[in-house]
Amino acid sequence: MRIGGQRRSDNFQDRGRGAGGGGGGGGMLFALISRLGFRGMILAAIVLGAVYFFMPGLRAPLMGALGLGGGEVQSAGSVCETAAEACDFSRAVLGSTEDVWRTQFSQSRMPRYGAQPGAYQDPTLVVFSGGVATEGCGSASSDVGPFYCPADRRLYIDPAFYQVMESRLRAPGDFAQAYVIAHEVGHHVQNLIGANQIQVQGENRNQTSVRMELQADCLAGVWGHTAQADLAIDETDLREALTAAHAIGDDTLGQSNERNFTHGSSAQRMNWFRRGFDSGDSRQCDTFAVQDYRAL
Ligand SMILES: [Zn+2]
Repeated sequence: MRIGGQRRSDNFQDRGRGAGGGGGGGGMLFALISRLGFRGMILAAIVLGAVYFFMPGLRAPLMGALGLGGGEVQSAGSVCETAAEACDFSRAVLGSTEDVWRTQFSQSRMPRYGAQPGAYQDPTLVVFSGGVATEGCGSASSDVGPFYCPADRRLYIDPAFYQVMESRLRAPGDFAQAYVIAHEVGHHVQNLIGANQIQVQGENRNQTSVRMELQADCLAGVWGHTAQADLAIDETDLREALTAAHAIGDDTLGQSNERNFTHGSSAQRMNWFRRGFDSGDSRQCDTFAVQDYRAL
């Protein structure tokens, strides 16, 4: 793919490095446990307990440092200073999704869930490092991966995730990264068309989640299809996206019990991305219209 001629979106925020809150807290707690041993842990628990009850001013930073939530993430510095290329790339892909979805919405080429969604409204992409305090979804650590917060209509991405994709998930390539952004934008699209309000009769939360995630994959595919000419998306790019979709399937990530799936299997994720990419039609992405869950 080539992003040279693509407009960069200004719906972009650099929050810098976040500390405290969920940011790296789990790792810190783990390091503490492994370093102190059992007796040390008891002692630490007494000390921390005392701090918690007698020094309320220190509660938030304490809970934050332990990764127990409730703590506020303090951000400083700039992500884009050190990850300039990733930031520029993210802005270009975001700009392309805006172009695509504005047109798709204005042509009413969207699945219908109740009321007509009206014009597309741009989401904001927030880049952060380590941890971030969101406006609508509490504090989050990079460990949770990129995510979309419907309450504040922002996408949150730590560019370090692109490294994780390349080395740990073995899903390298610029278009694999673009797919991740487009997938999160897909969740924003779902928010606008009301897909996240749907409750399928007789299905549980995990099953609804799988339908949502597969639809977001398909919508990412629709974006890829529509942006194909402008961004010179080729066969290699498509393979990168499919490799990424495969890598983040619940089964490939180690979940053997299908009932615990929240995102769908590797095969399902590839299929639904492909469906959007081949058709370029969001109405083909209506995972909620598939009656039998097992037929997804
Ligand atoms: Zn998702």
